[in-house]
Amino acid sequence: MSDSPSIFSRIVAREIPADIVFENDEIIAFRDIAPQAPLHLLVVPKTDAYADVTELAAGDPQLLARLVATAKQLAEQHSQGEFRLVFNTGASAGQTIFHVHAHLLGGTLAEGTLA
Ligand code: 5GP
Repeated sequence: MSDSPSIFSRIVAREIPADIVFENDEIIAFRDIAPQAPLHLLVVPKTDAYADVTELAAGDPQLLARLVATAKQLAEQHSQGEFRLVFNTGASAGQTIFHVHAHLLGGTLAEGTLA
């Protein structure tokens, strides 16, 4: 990770406001500032140790599993329970924040939406 805290670490620290819908000791979830679906949450491990999902899967697969379980729970609470989970991985794939995060997309998606 870079030396400066990521936007998501700053949300965790309450330095940047966000519409937080879930938080525990290791995961936070909040509404994306530019939603691309009726439900568009970002589900984020609080640690900034992993830049993307491949690093998280290799470094802490149990945390990745808990993140997916959290996404399922949030989709049940905030949408109809079925959902799309997107991990943009790499700049050319659309990743702009290099602090691993899942896009949780629910509701009726626009054709071609990939977050
Ligand atoms: P990425 O492009 O890295 O996969 O996803 C980053 C996401 O973070 C984008 O969907 C973008 O809209 C969202 N985002 C960027 N800055 C902020 C912010 O300050 N607050 C919130 N809630 N979302 C943000």
